[in-house]
Amino acid sequence: MISYDPNNIFAKILRGDISCHKILETDYILAFHDVKPKAKIHALVIPKGAYISSYDFHGNASDQELKGYYQGLNAVLSQLGLCHMTNTKGGYRLISNAGINGGQEVPHFHTHILGGEKI
Ligand code: AMP
Repeated sequence: MISYDPNNIFAKILRGDISCHKILETDYILAFHDVKPKAKIHALVIPKGAYISSYDFHGNASDQELKGYYQGLNAVLSQLGLCHMTNTKGGYRLISNAGINGGQEVPHFHTHILGGEKI
């Protein structure tokens, strides 16, 4: 079992050691723009707790953390104007990479939100 690396870049962002282009912060999540956007809108949503992957988060986070995370993610979709499926700005793709075969670069659970254009 791999343990959480407290020096990963998202942990540093959460501690305020590294800055980010913040979208939204709540008690449970931090959302910010990806530094190398792969779409017109490319946001990342991370939980404040120390979880490595979606498997770790979904298996070990408390009900409050789980609810707080997905409420936060929804608020980000709303804030970015992606939640409306009936106009050309709306719609999005969610991605969460995990581990070596999943191509995960940063070992702190996160969801990519891609949108703002047809992907
Ligand atoms: P993943 O491959 O799923 O772990 O994705 C990690 C993402 O984090 C990549 O899309 C990177 O561009 C992004 N990233 C890495 N460092 C930063 C940073 N300091 N601020 C914002 N995004 C970052």
